[in-house]
Amino acid sequence: MIEIRNLHKSFGSLQVLKGVDLTLEKGKVLVIIGPSGSGKTTLLRCLNLLEVPDQGTLELGGLSLSFGSKLKKESVLSLRQKTGMVFQSYNLFPHMTVMQNVMEGPVTVQKKDRAEARGRAIELLEKVGLAEKADAYPHQLSGGQQQRVGIARAMAMEPEVLLFDEPTSALDPELVGDVLKVMKQLAAEGRTMVVVTHEMKFAADVADKVIFMDGGYIVEEGPPQQVIGNPTSPRAVQFLKRIS
Ligand code: ADP
Repeated sequence: MIEIRNLHKSFGSLQVLKGVDLTLEKGKVLVIIGPSGSGKTTLLRCLNLLEVPDQGTLELGGLSLSFGSKLKKESVLSLRQKTGMVFQSYNLFPHMTVMQNVMEGPVTVQKKDRAEARGRAIELLEKVGLAEKADAYPHQLSGGQQQRVGIARAMAMEPEVLLFDEPTSALDPELVGDVLKVMKQLAAEGRTMVVVTHEMKFAADVADKVIFMDGGYIVEEGPPQQVIGNPTSPRAVQFLKRIS
C-alpha cells in the first residue's frame, strides 16, 4: 500500500529526513516512535503532502510520485484523497456541529449527495461512540470526544490509509483510552494505518510494524516484540528506558 524510497526533506538548512525507505502492506498498522525532533511528524506529513519531500519517491495506493521537480496538482489531489489525517489538536471546525464536521468533506470535496453523506456520518459517529453528540458543537465535547469526531471525519472521506499524528498526546490521561479503543477497532477491521505515538502499549498491542526514528533516519524497524521488546541500537534502548 505504501512504498517510500530515499525520502529527503529539509526546512531551510535543517535536514529533517535524510533518506527514509519504508514499505507497508495493505491492512497493516505501522507505528512510528522516536525522540522529539527525530522527524516522525514530518515523515507522516510527507505521506499526504502536507510537507512536500525534496527528493525520493512515494507510492501509495497505486499512485506513484517522484520528488525533486514540480508535482502535478492532480497527483497531489489524488494522493490527498487516498489518505485521511487525524491531528493531535483535532482541528475540527468550531462553528459546525459534530454532524456537519463529519459531512463537510464528503459534501464539499467529494460532491456527495447530502442525504447519503448524512447516513454515512451517522454510521461513523456510531462507530466512534458519539451518535448522541451529532448536534453538539466541538466546544461542548471533551478532548477525547473531539478526537473521536476527528477520526470519524477522516474516515468519512473513505481513505485507503489513515494517518494519525500523536492523536492522544493533547488529552487528559483518563480520555486517552477511549480514543485508543476506537483506533484498535479500526486496526482490527483491517484498515491500513500509520500512527505517530508515544503510547508504547498501544504500539505493542496493535502495530504490525514499528519504526524507531532518530536524527532523520529509521534506526530500527520490525515487529513490536523486536523494536520495543528487544531493541538493539543504543539510542532506541535509551529512548525506551526513558519513556517506560
Ligand atoms: P518529531 O515529530 O519527531 O518530534 P518533527 O518531524 O516534528 O519531529 O520535526 C523535526 C524537526 O523539523 C524539528 O527540529 C522541527 O523543529 C523541524 N520542523 C518541523 N516542521 C518544520 C517547519 N514547518 N519549518 C521548520 N522546521 C520544522
